[in-house]
Amino acid sequence: MIMRKELLLEPTPVQYLGRLPGGQDIFMKRDDLLGFSFGGNKCRIGMAFLEDMEQKGGDFMVSYGSPGSNLNRTMAGLCKSRDIPCLILVSEEEGASSKTFNRQIAERTGAQLAVCKKSHVAETVAQVLEELKKKGHRPYYLYGNQYGTGNELAARQAYRKAYHEIGRWEKDSGVKLTHIFHASGTGMTQGGLVAGKREAGGEEEIIGISVARDKDRGMEAVRRYAGEGNEAIRFETDYRCGGYGLYDSSIEDVIEEMMGRHGIALDPVYTGKAYAGMQKWLKQYGTGDERVLFIHTGGLPLYFDYLSGKQAENGS
Ligand SMILES: *Cc1c(COP(=O)(O)O)cnc(C)c1O
Repeated sequence: MIMRKELLLEPTPVQYLGRLPGGQDIFMKRDDLLGFSFGGNKCRIGMAFLEDMEQKGGDFMVSYGSPGSNLNRTMAGLCKSRDIPCLILVSEEEGASSKTFNRQIAERTGAQLAVCKKSHVAETVAQVLEELKKKGHRPYYLYGNQYGTGNELAARQAYRKAYHEIGRWEKDSGVKLTHIFHASGTGMTQGGLVAGKREAGGEEEIIGISVARDKDRGMEAVRRYAGEGNEAIRFETDYRCGGYGLYDSSIEDVIEEMMGRHGIALDPVYTGKAYAGMQKWLKQYGTGDERVLFIHTGGLPLYFDYLSGKQAENGS
């Protein structure tokens, strides 16, 4: 049995990146350096699901995501490392390339793959689970039921624990953070952070930069993952650039600058969009006294998809 600690290599380091022109000190929590399958928040989240599956007696992991899904890639790798069979369900996106690096890496683990239309996710999940049961497996669908709800408690554990990890870093370093920023998608990461903050009585603002969802849907999801509480949810939707996977030159500039200055890869779908959004937010609302933590949530293979896209654009 491979142990949690050996795989995750937590706590992840926190790095000082410097001061923004507005006066804010920026720190980065390097969750892109979590210990397997190119790191990222899905390592923590995937591990939480795996532990939940083991507790519930499941023996077959079923994951779901887009063709570029970091969750599918990480889940497939994690299951492979423990000899647990895994099926990844991949949504078909119109116009989107399906041969992403994430998908290729996932396929190379030997995970089973099923494709489904985005309008038929619930039916496909139900069907896949039924077929696995018929074959004698005890399948575990990581989002819960076929409609994708019911497993919030398990997902919450990942970044609830990471929040406490951040708290220990604050204590050790003497830095008192005022804000935590990160890319927010399904709400699993932000919900966990909010739950941890509630538990610890934390005071910093947790600001999720939406990579796709509108305010209502996004907030509702974060609230669901955060569990009972009356705190405000900060889910910022002004920096979406039109939707999932879409980006503009300001995001490309941030990606180039981060690679040039610090040698750290951001991608246009999640971390680059969120980092650019954070900079704009601080410019607009910051006072200059902020001590800010940006959580690098990983997604490294998407950086290479981005480079491949650039190469195709240039016709080389
Ligand atoms: C999934 C993902 C996110 C968003 O996390 P959620 O928990 O879905 O909100 C952010 N960054 C990267 C790189 C991701 O893969």
